[in-house]
Amino acid sequence: MHELSLVNSLLEIVDDYASRESFKTVNCLHLSMGRLSCVDRDSLQFAFDVQAKGTIAEGARLSVELLPAVIYCFACGCETRQNYFDAVCSKCGSGQVTLTGGTEELRLVDMDVD
Ligand SMILES: [Zn+2]
Repeated sequence: MHELSLVNSLLEIVDDYASRESFKTVNCLHLSMGRLSCVDRDSLQFAFDVQAKGTIAEGARLSVELLPAVIYCFACGCETRQNYFDAVCSKCGSGQVTLTGGTEELRLVDMDVD
């Protein structure tokens, strides 16, 4: 499961911060990922619950921000954000488009700690 390795590296980062900033509890992890990335949120939460047991991040809440799909159109040069990948420009209808955002992997943006 892909989510297991993502959570693993997430916990390593948290651990690293904890040893430098000496906090004792992690309340919430703010994460972001592309809407089209193949990370499943339920699997992610499940993997986190299991792997965070016994670590400083145990019981922390995951707050995941989904970044929109961004489509660039070669025909009219516009960039549109949408919630799904439509291979047609919504402004001019051209099919000469490329995906420039929305497939970002999971990233730790911020965390609430005590
Ligand atoms: Zn266009």
